[in-house]
Amino acid sequence: FAVSVEPLREPGPDDSRALILMHELTAMKRTEQMRADFVANASHELRTPLSTLVGFIETLRGPAKDDPEAHERFLEIMHEQSLRMSRLVNDLLSLSRIELNEHTPPRGLADLSRILSSVKATLDMQAATKDMDIQLDIEDGLPPVTGDEDELAQVAQNLIDNATKYGRPGTPIRVTARRADSVPAAFPKAPHGAVLIRVQDQGEGIPREHIPRLTERFYRVDKARSRDLGGTGLGLAIVKHIVSRHRGALSVDSQVGKGSAFTVYLPVAASAG
Ligand code: ADP
Repeated sequence: FAVSVEPLREPGPDDSRALILMHELTAMKRTEQMRADFVANASHELRTPLSTLVGFIETLRGPAKDDPEAHERFLEIMHEQSLRMSRLVNDLLSLSRIELNEHTPPRGLADLSRILSSVKATLDMQAATKDMDIQLDIEDGLPPVTGDEDELAQVAQNLIDNATKYGRPGTPIRVTARRADSVPAAFPKAPHGAVLIRVQDQGEGIPREHIPRLTERFYRVDKARSRDLGGTGLGLAIVKHIVSRHRGALSVDSQVGKGSAFTVYLPVAASAG
C-alpha cells in the first residue's frame, strides 16, 4: 500500500476516519509481511531436510550403490530427516488449526491433573534417556478449567518436551499445578479465579533479551542447537495461541546457567466456582 499523508488544513469531523484508515492499512501491511515471512521460513525449514534426502538418495543410487555399510548409515540419516519433516508438518498443521479457532473460546471442562499425568507418561521415557525425572506436584482439589483437553495437553507436552531438551541431564523437571494467588497483568479478568501450570527445569536458561521473542514462529535462541535436539521452532508459538484461545496468559522466568520456568495461567471454569 502507498499511503500519503497530507497535513489537514481544515480539521473536520472526518479526521479520525482518515487516521483509522491509516492504522488499518499499516496493520494489514504488517500482517501481510508476517505471512510472507512465515511462508519463507516454513519453506526454508522444509527445504533443508528435503535437500539432504535428495542428496543421499542420489548418492545411494550412484557412488554408494554397492556399499552396504554406507546404505545403513545413510538410511539412518534419511530416516532422521524424514521424521524431522514430519514433525514440522505436524506442527504447522496444529498451528493453522489452532489459529482458525483462536477466536472461538473453547467449551468443556478440562481436568488438569488427568492431562498432566498422561503427558508425563508419554514423556517419561524421553526424560529418562537424559536421566531426568518428571515430578508432578498437583494441588488436591484443583478446580477444572474451561478448555479443550487435547489443546491443553499439547501445551503441557510442548513445555515439558522443551524442559527435557534444554534441561541439564540428571536434574529433575518440576511440573506444578495449583490455584494462582496472583496473575500477570496480561491475564484477562476471570470471575472464578485462575489456576497455574508451571514447568521448571534446571537447564541452560535463556538470556533476558530473547524472552520477549520466544513465542514467535521459528524463533530460537540457538538455531543449530534446537535443530540438533529435533526442535521445529514452533512449540512455543503453538503454546501461545492455545493459551490465548483459552483466555489465559503465559509468563517466562529464566536465569542463564540456572534454569527456566514457564507458567501458564488459565481461568477456573464457571461451574467450579
Ligand atoms: P524449539 O522447537 O526450537 O524448541 P520452541 O518454540 O519450543 O522451539 O522454543 C523456542 C526456543 O526457545 C528454543 O529454540 C530455545 O532456544 C528456547 N527455549 C524454549 N524452552 C526452553 C527451556 N526450557 N530452556 C531454555 N531454552 C528454551
